[in-house]
Amino acid sequence: MTSANSGAGAAAPPPGPAPVPVLLEARRLVRDFGSFRAVNDVSLRVAEGTIHSVIGPNGAGKTTLFRLLTGIHRPTSGRVLLDGRDVTGQAPHAIARRGLAQSFQLTTIFPRLTVLESVQAAIVAASGHRADFVSRFHRSTVPEAMRVLGRVGLADHARTLAGTLSHGDQRALDVALALATKPKVLLLDEPTAGMSEAETERTIALIADLVRTGGITVLFSEHDMDIVFGISDRVTVLHQGRVIAEGTGPQVRANEEVTAVYLGGSGWGMQRDA
Ligand code: ADP
Ligand code: MG
Repeated sequence: MTSANSGAGAAAPPPGPAPVPVLLEARRLVRDFGSFRAVNDVSLRVAEGTIHSVIGPNGAGKTTLFRLLTGIHRPTSGRVLLDGRDVTGQAPHAIARRGLAQSFQLTTIFPRLTVLESVQAAIVAASGHRADFVSRFHRSTVPEAMRVLGRVGLADHARTLAGTLSHGDQRALDVALALATKPKVLLLDEPTAGMSEAETERTIALIADLVRTGGITVLFSEHDMDIVFGISDRVTVLHQGRVIAEGTGPQVRANEEVTAVYLGGSGWGMQRDA
């Protein structure tokens, strides 16, 4: 990303409306695996209360970028800032405690817990208490757990065993488990992968609702670019580890390089994992 404003730390702010605070920022991130550069000089700024998507074909570097942000991978160079604080190189749990949550496919880990119990366990874990406190806090966490389940549309499934949920409901529960930690920013790495069209629509609607009415900021990745345009405030396009475009959906869609990559080579708008 090239920007005329970058680097000039003490410069006067540009004229115009006050900018929305940036909650999560990547500054010139690089990640090498041996001699292979998976993430190459990637910068992005996720503004508070927005939906920001990272799109790009398989292998573009989306997952690696997310792992740099969450602390799972250390960057070869570059910085990660969360809510104005430099968290580069911090452990994933430390970054999570500062308000960055990532949704993992965790429901497979607790197939024998009910949906409600799963969320309660996540609430207790986020509180820093040990697992054997689960029973003691059992009743006190029910209202909060039910509130979270309501957010993702699973309140009616509270007593269902997590392992028996439909694929779409399991992914919704994964989001609920991340929300239970009360994050400022929620990262979703290809949340619609393997979903039917109906499940994809529901997931996108859920993401939009979380941000518009839930006071959450979402950064999500997607390889099917058509999915993101409707709901994204901002879109960053990755290709071979680099940012090739950044802007609103319409700006990105009109970008010639994006069009060339999208239509040529891999035809990455067409492929679904399912
Ligand atoms: P995406 O999520 O956009 O599909 P990834 O971030 O998973 O892309 O991968 C980007 C590139 O980095 C790919 O070529 C992949 O093979 C490579 N890569 C990812 N993780 C590793 C790793 N741990 N070791 C070596 N290469 C990796
Ligand atoms: Mg990926």
